[in-house]
Amino acid sequence: MTERTYLDHNATSPVRPEARAALLDALDATGNGSSVHSEGRASRAVLETARLRVAGLVGADPRGVVFTAGGTEADTLALTPHFQRGEAPLTCDVLLTTAVEHAAVLRGHRFAPDNVEILPVDNRGRLRLETLDAALERHQAEGRRVLASVMLANNETGVIQPVAEVSRRVHAVGGLVHTDAVQAAGRIPVSLPALGADLISISAHKLGGAPGGGALIMADPDLRPAPVFGGGGQERGRRAGSENIPAIAAFGAAAESAAAAVESEQRRIHALRERLEDALRSVFPELVLLVGDVDRLPNTSSLSVPGVPAETIVIALDLAGLAVSAGAACSSGKVATSHVLTAMGVPERIARSAFRLSFGWSSGDEDVDRALGVFRRVLPGLLRRRAAA
Ligand code: PLP
Repeated sequence: MTERTYLDHNATSPVRPEARAALLDALDATGNGSSVHSEGRASRAVLETARLRVAGLVGADPRGVVFTAGGTEADTLALTPHFQRGEAPLTCDVLLTTAVEHAAVLRGHRFAPDNVEILPVDNRGRLRLETLDAALERHQAEGRRVLASVMLANNETGVIQPVAEVSRRVHAVGGLVHTDAVQAAGRIPVSLPALGADLISISAHKLGGAPGGGALIMADPDLRPAPVFGGGGQERGRRAGSENIPAIAAFGAAAESAAAAVESEQRRIHALRERLEDALRSVFPELVLLVGDVDRLPNTSSLSVPGVPAETIVIALDLAGLAVSAGAACSSGKVATSHVLTAMGVPERIARSAFRLSFGWSSGDEDVDRALGVFRRVLPGLLRRRAAA
């Protein structure tokens, strides 16, 4: 069997050993975190330890953490017109977001479609602050309070958005700010106070926790989005239902490990990616690097071999032992042209051939060497077929 090389951490990261151990320990324990007996209190202790660790990953107050089943649920909980700050209702009239958000945000959730405004981005996928200013001015003039949802880092390109600037501007007109940091958390230092956002979404399986864990974190623990589910009073009434303690315990362990090494890992992973990108570009001048000289995650490369369909590239690499994604990972198994690349104005011929490499905590030099070997074996054939077509 071919030795596998996994460069698809933006889709999901392997479970870290310490997360696996925490998950198994929690599976072996019995006790609902809401029960008062010893077993219940032990589960509650696991939950609260994980809460401290997850809050620590983004420098937040642990009381602001609401555990969810993943990033999608965290985004869904955040995107509502209806909040409370303490006992006082706080209503947002319009959702302002960007054309490059993950589908979990772009749908707008509990906002009526007419109350969702999607802002364009520049040719590198960044929100221009002038565009935001113009929209904020318009909504302020019409007396509408804004909830802005701007992702911290893009899942396809890794491009980082100016979230701190967004927060300053939106707060100046009395709005709220949510940021989807699902791809950024654990890969670059993320500080909720420095970002100035009111709500931040993160997901366990992108940083080496188990699937089934995520969190929406409020900077102000007294800010409460209207709950999505009705039921028990778990998570201080913000997310009903018995907590998934094994997944949460694993999330806490992964968050703690990621936070402890985030700066050195950022440098290490950046060096791996640069070595692969540089080598690929020197061996295959036909390869297009879709975003280069822009602030982006250290682990993500968005590439294209124009004229070769992305599915063909991904399948050929997979057969040779290298796991990568075509544009966005697509749950339906169909690969459509990426809305992110379309929003950046990337021509269709290049966008249709885009694929993504993404490194993570388990990646090492041997992955770069093996990936280069696979590209050397596979790409010349694809390029010859393209020339013949
Ligand atoms: N937001 C971003 C930016 C993502 O990349 C993803 C997953 O790919 C999500 C949200 C959804 O997260 P989850 O898979 O945990 O539901």
